[in-house]
Amino acid sequence: MSFSALGISENYIKALKELKIIKPSPIQEEAIPFLLTNGTDFIAQAPTGTGKTAAYGLPLLARIDPKSPKVQALILTPTRELGQQVAKQLFKFTKYTDKIFTEAVYGGAKIEQQIAALRRPTQIIVATPGRLIDLLQKKALDLDTVKTIILDEADEMLSMGFKKELTRILKQATAKHDTWLFSATMPPEIKTIIKEYMKPTAHRVTIGTDKVNKKIKHQFIVIDQSEKLNMLLHFLRQMGNDRGMIFCRTKASAKSLVEELKAKGLSAEAIHGDLLQKERDKIMRAFKKETLQFLIATDIAARGIDVKDLAFVAHYEQPDQVEYYVHRSGRTARAGQEGLSLSFVTKDELKQLNYLQDKLKIVIEKVRI
Ligand code: ADP
Ligand code: MG
Repeated sequence: MSFSALGISENYIKALKELKIIKPSPIQEEAIPFLLTNGTDFIAQAPTGTGKTAAYGLPLLARIDPKSPKVQALILTPTRELGQQVAKQLFKFTKYTDKIFTEAVYGGAKIEQQIAALRRPTQIIVATPGRLIDLLQKKALDLDTVKTIILDEADEMLSMGFKKELTRILKQATAKHDTWLFSATMPPEIKTIIKEYMKPTAHRVTIGTDKVNKKIKHQFIVIDQSEKLNMLLHFLRQMGNDRGMIFCRTKASAKSLVEELKAKGLSAEAIHGDLLQKERDKIMRAFKKETLQFLIATDIAARGIDVKDLAFVAHYEQPDQVEYYVHRSGRTARAGQEGLSLSFVTKDELKQLNYLQDKLKIVIEKVRI
């Protein structure tokens, strides 16, 4: 199957080629032809890293009238990073087509600047739910002309506590729009949103019964708490030039771990809730440009991040929730590549690991380093 067979026009295909997006992924094969030809609600579940952005982005762009300066679509994302990533992808897709103006708005940046930006013609708004509510209250935009609302990474938006904001936004929008929901997992809260705010006729697509991307190799090491840091250092030194992310449960442990790694001369930085947007952007830029090798993150700070060619994800501390494991490991093995998800666990934590295996129907293999 090719993008052209799915109904995507040549100008888009040319830009996709430059992004090395040649062969549609399964979710793209399902979503694109349907969304291009049907005006209805759509619910898609597909594992992390399988190209959901293009799956909704390409049909969305085809729906936009470039001659009208009005806001025609709204994409909601859980974090500013993801919002920026989505806006950037859409911009790249339209390299050879009529210009379509996308604006990303999110908390942690000056709202006045965003209000000014929205006065220019803007056809697609990418927003985090909280900031969108603020902008609506300030009457910086209205949703009356919006024909498509996309809930991207819906599970993450809910697990980050955006349910109130989401329902408020969905209530305000006119009933004339279509809602497209994309998610890696379908926790009960999403089902509630679907029931209350989406059409009963919504078309549903599920890719893979597994939540976890098959290209991820899951492994664990059993280690005493007192030896954990040394073991991590040992593992990281074996990585050569390979890049990866290391997950901690709290800001405090992320902060102290990054100090330890830096003290040992490793190329590491941490992202967590206490960073200023500027600092965070700087770290993310370095990580994407590959001048930074190891990124330490908390679960919340890492939502939706898409960085190419990550060789591994290390769980230095076990995740609080099963879904977190899915999202953490989903940072590796993206775009058809392979990746390692390695858990550092103490004997007491083995039970948790078994629970993960059961719940996610994966095999986590024991290794020694
Ligand atoms: P998801 O939202 O499902 O987690 P993304 O949309 O962020 O995944 O895509 C993950 C990565 O895969 C991105 O870097 C994207 O450019 C790339 N990608 C998307 N579709 C394809 C494709 N058909 N072939 C190769 N790479 C792709
Ligand atoms: Mg995504």
